[in-house]
Amino acid sequence: MRVELVNTGTELLLGDTVNTNAAWIGQRLAALGIQVARQTIVPDGAVIRVAIAEAAQRSDVVLVSGGLGPTNDDLTRESMAELLSLNLDLDEGVVTQLQEYFAKRGRKMSESNKRQAMVPRGALVLTNHFGTAPGLYFPAELGAELGWNCHFFLLPGPPREMKPMVENEVETRLREWLPDGASRRVLYLKVTGVGESDIVEAVEKELEAVEGLDLGYCIRNADVDVRLAGSQSAVDAGAAIVRGALGDCIVSEDRRIIEEILVELLAQRGEWLATAESCTGGTIASRITDVSGSSRVFGHGWVTYANEAKQQQLGVPADLIETHGAVSEEVARAMAEGALKNSGADHALAVTGVAGPTGGTPEKPVGTVWIALATKGAETWAVKRFSPGARDRFKLLTSQAALEMLRRRLCGIALRR
Ligand code: AMP
Ligand code: MG
Repeated sequence: MRVELVNTGTELLLGDTVNTNAAWIGQRLAALGIQVARQTIVPDGAVIRVAIAEAAQRSDVVLVSGGLGPTNDDLTRESMAELLSLNLDLDEGVVTQLQEYFAKRGRKMSESNKRQAMVPRGALVLTNHFGTAPGLYFPAELGAELGWNCHFFLLPGPPREMKPMVENEVETRLREWLPDGASRRVLYLKVTGVGESDIVEAVEKELEAVEGLDLGYCIRNADVDVRLAGSQSAVDAGAAIVRGALGDCIVSEDRRIIEEILVELLAQRGEWLATAESCTGGTIASRITDVSGSSRVFGHGWVTYANEAKQQQLGVPADLIETHGAVSEEVARAMAEGALKNSGADHALAVTGVAGPTGGTPEKPVGTVWIALATKGAETWAVKRFSPGARDRFKLLTSQAALEMLRRRLCGIALRR
């Protein structure tokens, strides 16, 4: 099955918006065993029609993103109708959905939004649960007169609106059309704390020997997703290999990220987490509170950047800082234990390190960080990590290592030194 992508929007060509839709769709379709045959980016305007027509001549499916908005430069819907000589009808169902969308937000629907309810005759409306622009599906019959045999999907530009529509509306249809689509499985094993090259080293040879298994690695933030695709038996065989080699580093098998796993684990146990952060500036707390439901497990987060803050808020003794320095195992432990005591939580994570680019010394170079985890009724853990690099990367990797420490404690897995 030949699938092409047409991404519309002048902003994509100007470089103001990165074409993440193409990357994301490419990955999703790869998981189905489809390699996108061509991507075309076109500016807003009449050229959209040309690009779609060209793609239609040589494809079975064309996905178009962008240009479904209410403004004058959003022309995809009209271009498509023109191309297939379809009249546009006002769809009362969409009007109602739009009215409800605006009412829910206490806003009035403007006249220009009505354009989004115009549906080319014969096209199917794909409901947009996250925005105003409905998607549209044009069955291949609509282009038969032009000599085409091509299905079209028009998708909204904003990624958070486009993604669920692809998952719910596009992929289900592609699966039906693929010869072995219905039986094809995809599994993502999210691995943390191990670099991509080490993962490849540990599993690639064995995985490549599994017949019919498509294999991919994708670095996402601080994790690596190992993607296994193929028949159920091929995926099962692959998963067994990865679990055998990297079992205790697998965070999830359903694409959930570590903070989601932690909030769930803590909630199940009725336990609370507190954080005391220096060099990560609240990144750990921020990641935890990104998860819906985190208020049931997270109550206290300190950012104690200055030594005085560590002393006043967490009770870290001044002479401990004097003797060992703020970036030390002793101070990390004292921060975690102080946060545990002052918050009344069951677990407290603490980090103290040198984010750089300045402030490094020969004994404690930029990138050095101590991470500690204090838990009620258990020994305090402390590890040293080294993540030199840009400050944002340092924060991300350090917060990841801290969250991973907590995951190991909650799952009863030994600490990685
Ligand atoms: P649209 O209403 O379809 O013109 O798109 C609205 C917004 O969605 C744009 O301003 C971009 O911020 C975003 N967007 C559109 N196309 C893409 C794309 N291919 N990749 C990422 N973001 C996009
Ligand atoms: Mg646009």
